[in-house]
Amino acid sequence: MGFSTTGLNPQLIAAVTEQGYTEPTPIQAATIPAILEGQDIMAGAQTGTGKTAAFALPILQQLSQNSDDSQNPERPIRALILTPTRELAQQVHKSFVSYGQNSSLQSALVYGGASINSQIIALSQGVDILVATPGRLIDLIGRGAADLSQIQHLVFDEADRMLDMGFMDEIRRILKPIPAQRQTLLFSATFAQAIFDLSKTLLNEPTLIEVDARNTTATQVEQMVYAVDADRKRELLSWLIGSKNWKQVLVFTRTKQGADQLASEMCKDGLKTQSIHGDKSQGARERALEAFREGEIRVLVATDVAARGLDIDQLSYVVNFELPYNAEDYIHRIGRTGRAGGSGLAISLLSPPENYLLEEIETILDTRLPQQWLPGYEPDPTKEHRPARNSTPGAQKRRARDRAIGKKPARRRR
Ligand code: AMP
Repeated sequence: MGFSTTGLNPQLIAAVTEQGYTEPTPIQAATIPAILEGQDIMAGAQTGTGKTAAFALPILQQLSQNSDDSQNPERPIRALILTPTRELAQQVHKSFVSYGQNSSLQSALVYGGASINSQIIALSQGVDILVATPGRLIDLIGRGAADLSQIQHLVFDEADRMLDMGFMDEIRRILKPIPAQRQTLLFSATFAQAIFDLSKTLLNEPTLIEVDARNTTATQVEQMVYAVDADRKRELLSWLIGSKNWKQVLVFTRTKQGADQLASEMCKDGLKTQSIHGDKSQGARERALEAFREGEIRVLVATDVAARGLDIDQLSYVVNFELPYNAEDYIHRIGRTGRAGGSGLAISLLSPPENYLLEEIETILDTRLPQQWLPGYEPDPTKEHRPARNSTPGAQKRRARDRAIGKKPARRRR
């Protein structure tokens, strides 16, 4: 049916055609007309579904229709997009720049870990669209460099992750100067009670759009679970990558130290590997990502936070070296593969103490993920296992209770 049925103007259709998009993805087909009508939206969509264009395109259209404002020499910020991480912010900003290439709209990007002065200068020159991470935006508001009093469109991208990362206080502070009369769009890969609670305070009679059933994984992703002892996981992983000749493998670990250690061991196994996590400088993360995109490194080991917003086309393989403590992270992780129609394989390496984490994932997916054994790597039944952190019966009970009352998990260090 093409993009013409979405109500987008020819300029924007030309811009998406230039990107090689011929058809709107399901989330785009559902949200673009509703956003153009001015509705508030609460959309369930994972990264990889085309959700960025789903909000960027109709916002660009609405802003350019209001041409009086773009002629305003003061150029107030009229659209604010909040993202949990700088990588996602960069990705979203890039999309606004490329989709908006045929318009005179200006967009800016602000995030922590980079010079605040150049961001202040960029803002002082007048921008229509601001893409920001919460902490840095608050700094800029505090310095009087970001005026949010003229916001017409407010987007929360990956809202579940923002709550998970403990940004609720920042969100409250950012909301204060923003007019109540505005369009608000909330995108979230998963919907837990906390998201519904947040939506009540933010959105005005929102239209709920869900293209995938709630809390499901992308259907085109094949999921496999290999049971293996923890101390043999690396050996198994290197063997899988080497023997199956996998290129571009994204591997998740729970901790920064774990990511570094695994990356250095995989290099010793002869696989070009780098790690990205919150302790690495922005430049180092970007260089690693670029090398991964270009195929110069074969394996990228990442923590959950560092991986948010990574957009690597046609990523075929995602490996959970360890299962995440937060079952919803599993959905985010494997959402990196099988993007925008491509197929993908998500492998989880499961050591016996992690069984309870698999059960939690199966509960939110409402599906079973059968465990398999690879010949030569079967878990040793005589082995003593240290229980995984938080796996004591008391801790499990506490977490079950917190989930039942909708309390968000404690902020974790990664
Ligand atoms: P997102 O979910 O926004 O991270 O987008 C995932 C990927 O899908 C990005 O690489 C986009 O460039 C791509 N994409 C977005 N919309 C379309 C479309 N209509 N057709 C094909 N690819 C798309």
